Amino acid sequence: MSSLANNYKRRKLSFKKGNGSFLYATNGKKYLDFIQGIAVNSLGHANPHLVKAINYQSKKVWHVSNAFIIPEGEKLAKKLTKKTFADSVIFQNSGAEATEAAIKVARRYFYSIGKPKKNTIICIKNSFHGRTIAAIHASGSKKMTTGFGPKVDGFDHFEFGDHKKLKKIITNNTAAIMVETIMGEGGIKVIPDWCLKELRKICDKKKILLILDEVQCGIGRSGKFFAYEYANIKPDIVPIAKGIGGGFPIGAVLMTKKVSKAMIPGTHGSTFGGNPLAMTVGNAVMDQIFKKGFLTNVRKISNYFIKELNNIKKKYPKLIKEIRGQGLLIGIQLFNDQNKFIQNLMDNKLLTIRAAENVVRILPPLNVKKSEIDLALNIIKKVCKKYKV
Ligand SMILES: *Cc1c(COP(=O)(O)O)cnc(C)c1O
Repeated sequence: MSSLANNYKRRKLSFKKGNGSFLYATNGKKYLDFIQGIAVNSLGHANPHLVKAINYQSKKVWHVSNAFIIPEGEKLAKKLTKKTFADSVIFQNSGAEATEAAIKVARRYFYSIGKPKKNTIICIKNSFHGRTIAAIHASGSKKMTTGFGPKVDGFDHFEFGDHKKLKKIITNNTAAIMVETIMGEGGIKVIPDWCLKELRKICDKKKILLILDEVQCGIGRSGKFFAYEYANIKPDIVPIAKGIGGGFPIGAVLMTKKVSKAMIPGTHGSTFGGNPLAMTVGNAVMDQIFKKGFLTNVRKISNYFIKELNNIKKKYPKLIKEIRGQGLLIGIQLFNDQNKFIQNLMDNKLLTIRAAENVVRILPPLNVKKSEIDLALNIIKKVCKKYKV
């Protein structure tokens, strides 16, 4: 009997070590890991650059309070702002904390300019912004909020793509629109460029803020550092997490100078957020992702992978409904429940994970090799063959 609470339905599999795209299980088998801790291990398992960075820093200083200047954090924030829309950063430890911070920044901004009633955040129904009390209500998912009342006020929802409804629910009390640039848990639904452009326009017109949750799709996962870059727009606030730590828990909220002015001393904080150990790993991740040609290669390998998956789809038009995604955030949407399919892939030593709408979610490390993509394609083909459709 496990002493852990039962809040996860866990697969009966565990691992003794990992290396790049592979995991070595305690059952003696070697698995191609195309989950990577759900888009967290952006550089694969036991990446030598990250191992070196964490070893180096672990012998110096792990943690000091944010009451002091933390040079490693200054450095990572500088890198993040230099490469993005943002002018400043607050570090956290997880995605939910990052989205919470994003909500706080938006509200505090309007408070600071004398409009405290502008505090409602508009989100997409059944999106995913994390598991804290505020984040589950932001997500607007009945499944996540049930049993966790009272309902948290200050969130309004529209259905994915329903801009008519969106325009209708913007009121004088609206502070921001917050959406995932690519909906991850929701089924790998990419918000199209025209739609992001329209969201930016609406926000400008209504003088409200655009928050793009890139916790899952950010940090190179989409093939650009941020997925919104494809649409050539600039958000006001972006929460990040997953990929930035390469496996070490790091979250952050990135923001423009305009809104960051509201975040004066005492308005927000985190004991652990931005400690030297975490920041050193974050810096090492950034250095790899911004190596010349790294993101170009992500896009190249993604094009190949998606093209080949579409070829498989053509062969099994009654099994596979759609190939979704961008970069290395990819979904195979089936017509029917995907759990058996995922189990079959696992039996053939390929690890994938579900997302909503019958989607098999595939998240290779960003430095995946073409030969590993080919291995995955062969396993997927083999599993498809079992289905007589
Ligand atoms: C995973 C995720 C979160 C929550 O991150 P945690 O680290 O689990 O708190 C928030 N937003 C999006 C888009 C995510 O994918």
